Amino acid sequence: MTVRGEPANLLQVDALEARHGLLQAVRAVSFSCAPGDVIALVGANGAGKTTLLRAIAGAHPLAAGRVLFDGADVTRLRAPQRVRLGIAMVPEGRRLFGGMSVEENLRVAATYARPGPWGVDSVLAAFPQLRPKLKALAGTLSGGQQQATAIARALMTNPRLLLLDEVSLGLSPIAVDQVYQSLQALLGQGTTIVLVEQDLTRAMHFSRRVLCMLEGGIALQGERDALSRAQIMDAYFGLARAGASAEH
Ligand code: ATP
Repeated sequence: MTVRGEPANLLQVDALEARHGLLQAVRAVSFSCAPGDVIALVGANGAGKTTLLRAIAGAHPLAAGRVLFDGADVTRLRAPQRVRLGIAMVPEGRRLFGGMSVEENLRVAATYARPGPWGVDSVLAAFPQLRPKLKALAGTLSGGQQQATAIARALMTNPRLLLLDEVSLGLSPIAVDQVYQSLQALLGQGTTIVLVEQDLTRAMHFSRRVLCMLEGGIALQGERDALSRAQIMDAYFGLARAGASAEH
C-alpha cells in the first residue's frame, strides 16, 4: 500500500551486517518496507531479529550495509537522531523508567518527538487501560500495562516506523490480546510496523508480510497470504531450499 505523498519505500535495508564481537549476528539482510506495511519478523532464538531491529533503530552499529529511511541514508545517525526522523523502537523487556509515573514516562518521550498527532490524550485513547494508571509508578504496573506504556511511549515520539520487539513476551494470554487489540487499532491509522513475534500464528494473523530469519540471514520473505505455515516453519528450522524466497 502506498500512502499519497510518501515515497514507495519508507525503510530500505541494504546488505546489512551486524556483529557482537566476533559473532556475526546479522548477515547480508536486505528488505524494504512501504508506508503502511506491517511486517512480522520471525525466527528461532538467536536468529538475529533483535540485533536487526536495533541496527535499524540506531542502537547497534552496522558492520556493513546501509539503512535508508524515507529515501535518506541514516546509517551514520545515532538513535536519538533517528527518533527525530520518525523511527521508534519498543525494546524487548520494555525498559521503562520504573520509578517514574506512567505520565512522566510518556512526557519524557515527548522530548524527542517530531510534530504529529500523538500526545498524551491520543495515546490514552489508544490505550484506555492506562488512563486510571497515569499517576502510578511504571514499576508497579502489571506486565500488560507496562507493555502498553512502552508502546504508548514510543507513539509519543510520533513515529512513522514503529519497531516492536517481542511485545507479548512474559504476558498473560489476556494481556497479549489486549496489547494486540491496541496495535490493531494503530493499523487503521496507517502506522508502519516491523514486529518481532515468537508466536507464529499471531505473527501471521497480524502482519501483511512475513520475514523469516535463520542464523542471521533472511531464509524466507513474502506476502503473508502467499506463504503457507509449512513454508515458514521450514525456513524457521532451516529446512527450506536455498532461493525459496517468495518475495514480491
Ligand atoms: P531471541 O529471540 O532469543 O531474542 P534473536 O533472533 O532476537 O533471538 P539476537 O538477540 O539478535 O537474536 O541474537 C543474535 C545472535 O547474537 C545470537 O547468537 C546471540 O547469542 C548473539 N548475541 C545477542 N546479543 C549479544 C550480546 N550482547 N553479546 C554477545 N552476543 C550476543
